[in-house]
Amino acid sequence: MKDLKLAGRNATRSIIEVNGVSIGGKEIILMGGPCAVESSLQMSQIAETVKLAGGKILRGGVFKPRTSPYSFQGLGLEGLDYLVQAARAQNLLCVTEVIDAASLELVVEKVDLLQIGARNMQNFELLKLAGKANKPIILKRGLSATIEEWLLAAEYILAAGNPRVILCERGIRTFEPSTRNTLDLSAVGVAKELSHLPVIVDPSHAAGRRDLISSLSKAAIAAGADGLIIETHPNPAEAVSDGPQSLTPEQFVQLAGELGVVAGAVQRGFTCGGKGDTLKTLRTQIDRVDQSIIELLAERMEVVRKIGDQKRLDRVKDPVREKEVMLRLVHLAIERQLSPEIVKKIYPLIFEFGVQTQIKSKLAKDNELEPASIQ
Ligand code: PEP
Ligand code: MN
Repeated sequence: MKDLKLAGRNATRSIIEVNGVSIGGKEIILMGGPCAVESSLQMSQIAETVKLAGGKILRGGVFKPRTSPYSFQGLGLEGLDYLVQAARAQNLLCVTEVIDAASLELVVEKVDLLQIGARNMQNFELLKLAGKANKPIILKRGLSATIEEWLLAAEYILAAGNPRVILCERGIRTFEPSTRNTLDLSAVGVAKELSHLPVIVDPSHAAGRRDLISSLSKAAIAAGADGLIIETHPNPAEAVSDGPQSLTPEQFVQLAGELGVVAGAVQRGFTCGGKGDTLKTLRTQIDRVDQSIIELLAERMEVVRKIGDQKRLDRVKDPVREKEVMLRLVHLAIERQLSPEIVKKIYPLIFEFGVQTQIKSKLAKDNELEPASIQ
């Protein structure tokens, strides 16, 4: 791909900075909001949801490129004010889609990021104009675009002078009718292999149905996505567009609460609970962390039990191994700015319970075996 002069792979990955938010770094960036801006109330409600979930960017279309000319085309400038004000009130950034030169001109100074939608991915004149804008561009993959075409579209923006492009996989057309599009998760890996640009995933337009959004979002993070853009609406049943794929506020917050574990599993980070300074949200975070601790302890005990099955009863306690583990964890604790005393106090108890579990499990097994050996 010799023409990816600027979008092509680099020694380092690009981290796109936008008003205090970094896209493409360790932290997974969550963006959410309705497909279309409908009212001031709708936007202020959903901005609160996005903030509560730990989202950083509020989305909302005001110029809608609709498949049918008779569908709602967006509120235009009136909607832009609702989007910008709702975002500002919650200290969120905001993004909206531009569809032509006129809409770009109208929104560029008011929003933090611009989106070029799937239907305009190869609108080359629009790409060139986006290249002159001083705002980051979220470039969605076209409905039937190859990854190469998508990256070349990004190249247009970069070549025109704007280095801040974020690629967004949002599903492609396939023969499969059970989802609106097919989320191409391998595209995340391929795009990141071929390009230094961050890649985010929009599971909403890919699936077209809300029941799949949670699992697709988690899969996207596992596949290497740098962020998610998800449609959510205060009342999806009443949404003027894309209601069936929009999460309710409760579902959005719940999903956000589940993303941290997935992010952690792939050495990324996501902190749910944007209103980090209120007692309620901090306690929600603590409850979630405590739940993870218990789940991890249960997992540890299960492994410990299996290990016990491989040891002789008189060798269940292994002080040398315990010492090794302890040493490693003390170092880890220091690295993470934790007091080593925590490890020194907690781990002997964990080891002791482990040994007891192994002994109990072995004795129970022996008892099971006895009747058989008498026969
Ligand atoms: C949207 O984000 O509302 C949208 C129209 O998405 P896409 O361009 O991916 O269809
Ligand atoms: Mn939509």
